[in-house]
Amino acid sequence: MFGFSDKGNLNLITQALEAVGRRMEVVPDPTTVHFHLPDDLSVLVHREYSEFIAELISKFPHEKEGINKFYGECWKIFNALNSLELKSLEEPIYLFGQFLKKPLECLTLAYYLPQNAGNIARKFIKDPKLLNFIDAECFIVSTVNALQTPMINASMVLCDRHFGGINYPVGGVGGIAKALANGLVDKGSLILYKANVTNVILEQGKAVGVRLADGREFFSKTVISNATRWDTFGKLVKVDDLPEDEKNFQRIYVKAPSFLSIHMGVKASVLPPDTDCHHFILEDDWAKLEVPYGSIFLSIPTVLDSSLAPEGHHILHIFTTSCIEDWKGLSVKDYEAKKELVADKIIKRLESKLFPGLKSSIVFKEVGTPKTHRRFLARNNGTYGPMPRNIPKGLLGMPFNTTAIDGLYCVGDSCFPGQGVIAVAFSGVMCAHRVAADLGFEKRSPILDTALLGLLKWFRTIA
Ligand SMILES: Cc1cc2nc3c(=O)[nH]c(=O)nc-3n(C[C@H](O)[C@H](O)[C@H](O)COP(=O)(O)OP(=O)(O)OC[C@H]3O[C@@H](n4cnc5c(N)ncnc54)[C@H](O)[C@@H]3O)c2cc1C
Repeated sequence: MFGFSDKGNLNLITQALEAVGRRMEVVPDPTTVHFHLPDDLSVLVHREYSEFIAELISKFPHEKEGINKFYGECWKIFNALNSLELKSLEEPIYLFGQFLKKPLECLTLAYYLPQNAGNIARKFIKDPKLLNFIDAECFIVSTVNALQTPMINASMVLCDRHFGGINYPVGGVGGIAKALANGLVDKGSLILYKANVTNVILEQGKAVGVRLADGREFFSKTVISNATRWDTFGKLVKVDDLPEDEKNFQRIYVKAPSFLSIHMGVKASVLPPDTDCHHFILEDDWAKLEVPYGSIFLSIPTVLDSSLAPEGHHILHIFTTSCIEDWKGLSVKDYEAKKELVADKIIKRLESKLFPGLKSSIVFKEVGTPKTHRRFLARNNGTYGPMPRNIPKGLLGMPFNTTAIDGLYCVGDSCFPGQGVIAVAFSGVMCAHRVAADLGFEKRSPILDTALLGLLKWFRTIA
């Protein structure tokens, strides 16, 4: 889990928990991911940056300078971000204040804002296989190649994994939501579960509340939607015409595919003793990186926290990209049969690449499809989030938290800066600050607000 360290400014999960008086015990993960790639390229991303770089250089000695320069650029961005107090980039008083305090860092970020990792990698690296590796590094974050991954997003994760490191919360990641929820309730919040919002209530064009599927209505000064922008504007907000800003968002971004997930309990004896927690497998063909079912992600949390499974067993979470179109129009029987068939193929691939005997060691198995993601997360087509339609201008086109509808804000992975827990937490912090300013809890200047929001809107139209 990113964002869970005890240092810097990007440990947003630690900060969010602290804000509600909670702290979780974490286990440091010695490796972020073990890549198993075509031509038997195996790269372990060690927590220690120097060890990772030494390992990568040992595989590509002729690219030593390029490797150091590319990851060095990532550090420039990460260090700039990490030195700022992270708040809303839509709030001009804060933004100008940060600029006065840290002009170099702000200019660094502004310079890289419209750039993508793939272009920067190509400035320093020539070996196509190493560029493929950088694609895989980006793909596991954004589900697209490096040319389509904004440099700022890539830098956040490619460096935080070494700076703060990957830390696993003892008891499982579900504990984060529980700790946050308990902390919020202690601070006086009310959280409703099984509360399915069907409508954002509008009065004279302003968002004033929400209506639930069971008919209950709640009114408020602001409404913040954590649904994707496609769900917020396609389902929850009933307007005749999509606001221009949202049309622009949909011009630049499409919905990324969803995932097929297999959760398994296996006998511990099937895993070699020093198996890493996270793996990414692309067996034989780089061209399959972005193709549905082409690559496999695997996490084994019990490697870090054995208390999660009964003694002598491990938990495997295996997932691969999959589109909802593949799962539509099937009878229940055919749907169940297809789940078995597809899962079986993935398990066989893991068996031949990593763990011989895997299939016969299974004691529990549950398969989820894009439909499962759609149902349980209420995400349009079960999507992983926005994916650039073409080559984007970095993050320039990504909308922030305010929307064209007065009183309505969006938060989450279809807002700046995108997918991933650390990015989504950043979007939450930004949104809270903008809302606090609009409600009068923070200093604000309506004239500067109009000017900045207008400027950001214009940037998005040229992205
Ligand atoms: C298989 C998989 C593995 C991943 N692994 C990692 C990883 O290792 N590291 C990492 O950083 N990121 C990872 N991610 C990405 C990360 O989980 C997401 O980017 C992040 O959870 C998105 O957060 P969000 O708040 O935008 O959306 P969500 O997590 O989807 O949360 C939205 C919430 O809103 C609720 N909601 C939606 N509509 C309504 C409605 N109408 N009424 C009421 N409630 C509603 C949903 O129930 C949901 O709880 C992974 C994602 C997947 C699918």
